[in-house]
Amino acid sequence: MLESELVSKYRGFSIMNEIKDFNEILKEKGYKFTNQRKHVFEVVIENDGKHLNSQEIYEHVRQKHPEIGVATVYRTLALLEEMGLIYGVDFEDGFRRYEIAKDHEVHRHHHLICLECGFIREVPEDLLGAIEEGILKKHNFKVLNHRVKFYGYCEKCANKMAANKNKKL
Ligand SMILES: [Zn+2]
Ligand SMILES: [Zn+2]
Ligand SMILES: [Zn+2]
Repeated sequence: MLESELVSKYRGFSIMNEIKDFNEILKEKGYKFTNQRKHVFEVVIENDGKHLNSQEIYEHVRQKHPEIGVATVYRTLALLEEMGLIYGVDFEDGFRRYEIAKDHEVHRHHHLICLECGFIREVPEDLLGAIEEGILKKHNFKVLNHRVKFYGYCEKCANKMAANKNKKL
């Protein structure tokens, strides 16, 4: 695939509307554009919202490009994260998961994590404006970003638990 085609392919994803040419970003930061980097980045984009871990990303890359090794995929993920193109998230399950850094997000979205089934949902709103303002006033500290995770039960699990409780009564 030509690089120009690659760019238009990325543009096709609404989340990528504002992202600059991948090639250009790499160049700006002093990195070389390689197909391996492109393929890894592509998998993260195509699976946005799924929060794939490094191993799962490797499996996806391998399906289309069996020549790319696991170490390369892991190294590339670390590099892309360092460049700010992707975010790493930890959900305390022992895996580092990755998602795309969305350009329109000034601050990061939050995650809702179900303790029962592990379901992860994104909450796009920042919601923290008032708290950030309070922190600035009280502590003279300018908040640039945050990683917020809410733990609880998803609707499905909550309903199931309620049904089980009723059965026992
Ligand atoms: Zn914020
Ligand atoms: Zn659940
Ligand atoms: Zn997310």
